[in-house]
Amino acid sequence: MLKKILIANRGEIAVRVIRTCKEMGIRTVAVYSEADRDSMHVKLADESICIGPPEPLKSYLDIPRLMAAVEVSSAEGVHPGYGFLSENPKFAQIVEASGKVFIGPSAETLELIGDKIKAKEVAKKVGIPLVPGSDGPVDFQKALEIAREIKYPVVIKSAAGGGGRGIRVVYDERELREKLPLAMQEAKSAFGDERVYVEKYIVNPKHIEVQVLADRYGNVIALGERECSIQRRYQKLVEEAPSASISEKQRKYLEELAIAFCKEINYVGAGTVEFLMDQEGNFYFMEMNGRIQVEHPVTEIITGIDIVREQIRIASGEKLSIKKVERRGYAIEFRINAEDPNTFLPSPGRVDRLFLPGGLGIRVDTHIYCGYKIPPFYDSLIAKLIVWGKSREEAIDRAKRALEEFIIEGEGLKTNIDFHKRLLNTREFKMAKHHVKFLEEMML
Ligand code: ADP
Ligand code: ADP
Ligand code: MG
Repeated sequence: MLKKILIANRGEIAVRVIRTCKEMGIRTVAVYSEADRDSMHVKLADESICIGPPEPLKSYLDIPRLMAAVEVSSAEGVHPGYGFLSENPKFAQIVEASGKVFIGPSAETLELIGDKIKAKEVAKKVGIPLVPGSDGPVDFQKALEIAREIKYPVVIKSAAGGGGRGIRVVYDERELREKLPLAMQEAKSAFGDERVYVEKYIVNPKHIEVQVLADRYGNVIALGERECSIQRRYQKLVEEAPSASISEKQRKYLEELAIAFCKEINYVGAGTVEFLMDQEGNFYFMEMNGRIQVEHPVTEIITGIDIVREQIRIASGEKLSIKKVERRGYAIEFRINAEDPNTFLPSPGRVDRLFLPGGLGIRVDTHIYCGYKIPPFYDSLIAKLIVWGKSREEAIDRAKRALEEFIIEGEGLKTNIDFHKRLLNTREFKMAKHHVKFLEEMML
């Protein structure tokens, strides 16, 4: 088992990883930028190393600086968290080449699944239904032909996209003519890869994803699904497990598809296979994410499995020990962002008053504390509230109570807590009739 791990991340996920390491008796090394000197992950880790100025490109995304920290601290493994370098094949390769353990899939796997076009080819090969669309990257002529065939509306997506970026809906030929070159240009500047593809735009689908764990010996298990249909601009805001909209039979089917995909590419580690479900209940492969996800706690809460612990065990070369996954009740996660509820612009500031909810069935994952100054340089996620209930109704009632208790106040600091309260009072969410466009419609 790894004895010392460096966490190449910040914020709540760095705290999350450190907690499991402590329980496993593993020493932890935090890295931080000059803006994160007073961060919780720095306080909780056994050792900490400053890796540079606030700008992510000069700190959390700077591979040489991170590798220097790995060497100086003699860490044996690196946990990349999510975002930053977590899906970067070059980082994984360099960590492994220096004789250290990258806690995640291999560089080759990251390369493959990070390319959505290649991932779709794999899915097709193992018989997973795909959203109708192009087989590979498209230029304008090809996009035009395909759109005529599958009919508008269509979406243009970047092969290297992620975090909801690089997705554009197109309703007619005129719009396609206008948006395709823009999409390619933007993909080039945002991801360094101009390849885009087109897919049929599924109207008001649900986002359903399957959590998997795979060891180095070919064993793959699925931990069930999460529904992440509450989104804004293709980014998740509320996630739940299990999905209230699929049957046990559909769950088994999705798990089988996810496992088949992982086996085909010899996947190792924790990962998530994402699907869309249309209004008729048809499923389509979307992509695979080869890292821990923001919403992993909802799966942990209903299964009792610590996914970070499994990631570390797998990376240490251990066999999967879980034989059967038992689920209990419902869990819902709310992403609390430091943002203006009207403009959605980030709203950093100092936390002057803080009260975290508690009681039965409540988990709060956060790195903030009273007096903490939220830096303006990073993601606006400042906390995750995860609630559990025997039934979905009970989880919703508990969430309302917890959101009422939750206080985060400070000068210039705004959060989306009230927004979550509003969501919980909508008929659609209560009845689980919500879809990926529901939130945007609700806000109008
Ligand atoms: P997950 O797939 O784990 O639910 P998200 O889909 O919300 O996470 O985001 C995917 C990754 O992109 C996350 O690791 C997150 O840190 C990062 N991310 C989220 N929002 C943005 C953004 N606006 N710009 C760049 N990266 C983002
Ligand atoms: P990312 O890598 O940014 O997470 P995904 O391919 O996972 O991108 O898609 C993110 C979200 O975009 C989905 O959850 C869904 O809301 C929307 N989306 C993606 N593809 C389609 C599609 N073909 N039709 C409708 N919505 C889509
Ligand atoms: Mg996705």
